[in-house]
Amino acid sequence: MSAYDTAPGVAAAIDAFKLPEKLGFGLVNAPVMFSAEWHDGCWGRGQLLPYGPIEVWPGSRALQYAELVFEGLKAYRVGQSKPSLFRPEENCRRLQRSAERLSLPPVPETLFFAGIEAVTSACSAIMPTRSGQSLYLRPFLFGTESGYLLRNSVSFRFMVIANPVEAYVSGVMNVAIERTDVRAAVGGIGAAKAAANYAASLRASSAAIARGHTVALWLDGTEHRYIQELSGMNVFAVIDGELHTPELDGAILPGITRDSLLMLSRSRGFKVHERRMAIDELLAGIQKGRVSEVFACGTAAIVAPIAVLADSDGHEYEPAHTDVVARQLRDALLAIQERRAPDEFGWTKEIATTK
Ligand SMILES: *Cc1c(COP(=O)(O)O)cnc(C)c1O
Repeated sequence: MSAYDTAPGVAAAIDAFKLPEKLGFGLVNAPVMFSAEWHDGCWGRGQLLPYGPIEVWPGSRALQYAELVFEGLKAYRVGQSKPSLFRPEENCRRLQRSAERLSLPPVPETLFFAGIEAVTSACSAIMPTRSGQSLYLRPFLFGTESGYLLRNSVSFRFMVIANPVEAYVSGVMNVAIERTDVRAAVGGIGAAKAAANYAASLRASSAAIARGHTVALWLDGTEHRYIQELSGMNVFAVIDGELHTPELDGAILPGITRDSLLMLSRSRGFKVHERRMAIDELLAGIQKGRVSEVFACGTAAIVAPIAVLADSDGHEYEPAHTDVVARQLRDALLAIQERRAPDEFGWTKEIATTK
């Protein structure tokens, strides 16, 4: 017996789907989605459905109180007959940790993989296959009960939607150091992949974009001194030829790309440091030429170079190099993800296809 049901219309939705030339990142929706509901203390059977609008009560806690956590991972099918995922168990564990932080019921591993595999397998024939392209999967879990009482919902929904995507090129980034707003503080929900963290970041992100920057760089919530991360990516610096990244302080999102880069660079003989990194030390290091490069990482862009760090007083700091170490790491990681290079860490997981 299959681990989920398939609704009428799924085959027709896939047949009718044409992969457009221009994919962007999130512009194109995959024609199917997965949904399972939690009622009376247990998860119901999952269903694969044609992609479309869903009904949600206006008073649901997901809408009123941001009772929602999510994940992001990619399925690749570049020069392979079957799609494969990159470290999906890590996404499953992180979704469980995020759920735990918001006291939502955890999505069991079997249900998580039923959803991921249903969508990936149904989409395998329509997945883009050029290097850098992939099927971006977005699992999410939210509270569906209406009501204003400040407690968790008693009903929940787990869904997986997907988008065929290009290699996400942010170009070379120009980041705006955010000295006023705080994305997340220790004790809060910064380490959970919760929608509400993004809400906290939107004002600074939009203001940064309006001033011609790419994205905001966040500092710690207590002293406004230590580097956390970008709104959706972790940060690294190359200092005196060694890699440095802020240590996970409880407010930083523990990125799977971050963890993979740490493992990959250690295995290639790089010296790697996870530590508290003061923004002023980084900026002084750029001026002295000791910080040769700064870059960001996350599932979407993999590794993205940062050319400029702009301070709130208008000063701009430019590391000597952009995209030297970053490019090496991006190429090495993408080659593993696309299964062109030996998977020395056992990171990729092949998905069976229905057809
Ligand atoms: C998802 C996310 C990242 C990157 O995590 P990956 O697992 O590498 O994709 C970094 N920061 C924030 C705030 C995120 O939401």
